[in-house]
Amino acid sequence: MTAEERATTEGSPRVEAAAPAETFRSGFAALVGRPNVGKSTLLNALVGAKLSIVTPRPQTTRHRILGLLHLPDAQVAFVDTPGLHRGHRRLLNRAMNRAAASALAEADVCVFVVEALRWTDEDQMVLERIAKAGRPAILVVNKVDRVRPRERLLPYLQEVAARHEFAEIVPISALKGDNLDALRSAIVRALPVSPAMFGPEELTDRGLAFRIAEVIREKLTLELNQEVPYGIAVEIDSMTEREDGQLEVHAIIWVDREGQKPIVIGPSGERLKRVGRAARLELNTLLGRRLHLDLWVKVRENWADDVRALRQLGLE
Ligand code: GDP
Ligand code: MG
Repeated sequence: MTAEERATTEGSPRVEAAAPAETFRSGFAALVGRPNVGKSTLLNALVGAKLSIVTPRPQTTRHRILGLLHLPDAQVAFVDTPGLHRGHRRLLNRAMNRAAASALAEADVCVFVVEALRWTDEDQMVLERIAKAGRPAILVVNKVDRVRPRERLLPYLQEVAARHEFAEIVPISALKGDNLDALRSAIVRALPVSPAMFGPEELTDRGLAFRIAEVIREKLTLELNQEVPYGIAVEIDSMTEREDGQLEVHAIIWVDREGQKPIVIGPSGERLKRVGRAARLELNTLLGRRLHLDLWVKVRENWADDVRALRQLGLE
């Protein structure tokens, strides 16, 4: 695919429904798979907007996130989910698995994402959940850009085809945008004939505060590497319109132990400043407006196991 072709196929064409009612399709497509296979990258690429945050770390996505794709003949409501994973010790992990499971149960089609040339126990566990839910499933073999030479893919595709009656198997690269048109068509074919469920301008069900908190969490996660594993959460404390037209946002970064506070803040506050700057720059473009961002780090012991804390963070 040339860069020019990609440019015309990547963005979500936001057009009014043009197809006659008897052929228009719409429904829910759940993106499921173990952590880190590229579900959120794929959601963003399919709808042509950054809705879900992406980091190299597993368990980055904690919530269900709805992203809408408007096509002339169809409307697809994608549901990005936290990866189904093992290790259900903490309340947070159980809440994440529950979010993924309920998206699966309500989907018209499951888009099951795996990594090219790999099939782990967790992939197998996800497949069993899909089979149990009894929904049609499209197998997406992602990260094919890493397969060299490409012929190595063929035996893998044959092997995975034998594992389940998939409606279709589509190799893609979510990162490079390869073969996404084929995937969009496969998903649309799997949806029921039905009128659109959402307005033509709608992009996501998530509000401004959520999107801001998520971008901050993404920048923090990227900045922290392995240092504070999974121990952070971001809450928007207030948002105010300023007279100069900027949006003033106060956000709290929750850590779950006192000792993590200095790590997040960094020597003379440098790290927190870098996080704030990176988040602000991205949000300025994402939201098309200037932001004033204030970040505070606070301790809440074991928030990932605290029912009230999870509820407050919308993670229940
Ligand atoms: P999720 O946990 O399934 O939502 O995965 P993410 O979308 O957060 O991606 C996890 C990591 O895989 C990130 O570092 C992505 O940049 C990377 N990734 C996603 N899709 C691709 C792809 O098609 N090719 C390559 N090489 N990396 C990818
Ligand atoms: Mg994700």
